[in-house]
Amino acid sequence: MLEQLIADCVRDLPPGQVITDHAQLRTYECDGLSSYRCIPGLVILAESSADVAYVVGKCAEYGVPFIARGSGTGLSGGALPRTDGVLIVTSRMNRIVSVDSGDERAVVEPGVINAHLTKAALPHGYYYAPDPSSQQVCSLGGNVAENSGGAHCLKYGFTAHHVTGLEVVMPDGSTERFGGLAPDPVGYDVVGALVGSEGTLGVVTEVTVRLVRTPEAVQTVLAGFRSIDDAGTAVSKIIAAGVLPAAVELMDALAIEAAEAAVHPGYPAGAGAVLVAELDGPPSEVDAQLADVERLCQEAGAFEIRVAADEVERALIWKGRKSAFAAVGRISPDYIVQDGVIPRTALSTVLRAIENVAAEAGVRVANVFHAGDGNLHPLVLFDESKGETERAEEVSNRIIDLCLQHGGSITGEHGVGHDKKLHMGKMFNEIDLDVMQLVRCAFDPAGICNPGKIFPTPRLCGERPGRAQGVHPLTEAGIADVF
Ligand SMILES: Cc1cc2nc3c(=O)[nH]c(=O)nc-3n(C[C@H](O)[C@H](O)[C@H](O)COP(=O)(O)OP(=O)(O)OC[C@H]3O[C@@H](n4cnc5c(N)ncnc54)[C@H](O)[C@@H]3O)c2cc1C
Repeated sequence: MLEQLIADCVRDLPPGQVITDHAQLRTYECDGLSSYRCIPGLVILAESSADVAYVVGKCAEYGVPFIARGSGTGLSGGALPRTDGVLIVTSRMNRIVSVDSGDERAVVEPGVINAHLTKAALPHGYYYAPDPSSQQVCSLGGNVAENSGGAHCLKYGFTAHHVTGLEVVMPDGSTERFGGLAPDPVGYDVVGALVGSEGTLGVVTEVTVRLVRTPEAVQTVLAGFRSIDDAGTAVSKIIAAGVLPAAVELMDALAIEAAEAAVHPGYPAGAGAVLVAELDGPPSEVDAQLADVERLCQEAGAFEIRVAADEVERALIWKGRKSAFAAVGRISPDYIVQDGVIPRTALSTVLRAIENVAAEAGVRVANVFHAGDGNLHPLVLFDESKGETERAEEVSNRIIDLCLQHGGSITGEHGVGHDKKLHMGKMFNEIDLDVMQLVRCAFDPAGICNPGKIFPTPRLCGERPGRAQGVHPLTEAGIADVF
């Protein structure tokens, strides 16, 4: 059926939007997680919502799977294509439709780059708050699908807290609108279901987001500690004191080494950990909070505290932190970016446990994290050419187990995608997974929208793997046995 679909697309769409050439298709074989690769059957470079509706309609007609792709920076293989499927790329849908300071809203196409929205909003005195470290390249459509977070989500919340409306091409090819400008629409929160659904419920073709007023004052503090334990104590003290920084980020010695090698941010020499805290708001409030943070860092053992003197110094501090993933490439030929969550109070315990797991396996782990949210990003370093891949993957998996053992979760912001679906069963039981599947089937009964992602066992609507006989637990639990 894919052949027929390709013939239709070649006939009906401009040639520059339809990619069938093998070499060109290879460009799209993976997202930011390059350990999984698959050459797509067809790539469509959509330029409008109508293009997306046309292609998805064809997929529904022929029963062909489709996968949406924004900028391809995802780190969980969410946009991993299929040889028997169509990859719908939205990066040409990059129009900022409106920026309205009266309503404090912007309407954008899904291919708009995260940082471009803030650039467009700044002259109006506003910005877009969720700021993934990939914000210079990742798309708003991808952010919506992954419910992306970033350094400033501690105070301002994740993508889910900023999206008020969506236009979506549904898996049957119809176009629907959910939510709008209002903060709390009537009825079921369908926008809430779509944000974070990792492209499994439809293709987002327009996004309405909340804009946040640019703060009157901002102060960025950099504190150097001898150990990650001391830095973790500082974070706990700051939060316990009732100070709510816009961001609190931590990096350990190895991550500092990598950042210094790559972008020379000038972090304190000899530090076992650095803490970056940002305070924003009215000047008097920021001054008071700054004094608190400096005092609390000192009490926790900071040996050097620096406040960014100007915008250049502030940008350099953040450059060190935001380029940390890529910077690790300077100190290791290969690495895995892990993403897990733990309660803030378990920070020291889990970090020590990670250190032990890494030492046992003879693997180095650099730690970068959104400490305020308890969102860890351990970077497991290895050298594929020396046959270390398996050991590194083992360490990476054990880190996820540690997060779960300490009451955390398998992903903070990078999503489940293809990579983490096998961990889903560690966190959710079969009933939980079946309920999620019910939601998915309500949107996509044919199972053609980004299939094979999120769920540990491939299942279609109406199918229950391994459950040919007996009473289904959903029925036992009193939930209608409807799929
Ligand atoms: C160096 C680096 C740093 C990063 N830092 C962060 C960070 O701080 N915080 C964070 O949250 N993430 C981070 N990420 C991960 C990634 O950038 C985010 O997940 C981002 O939101 C992905 O956007 P994208 O446009 O690249 O999406 P893609 O990778 O193209 O796709 C991601 C998922 O979204 C789906 N999708 C894309 N567009 C649509 C659409 N229009 N409709 C429906 N589904 C769609 C895809 O099917 C896929 O499942 C980082 C990645 C890198 C490489």
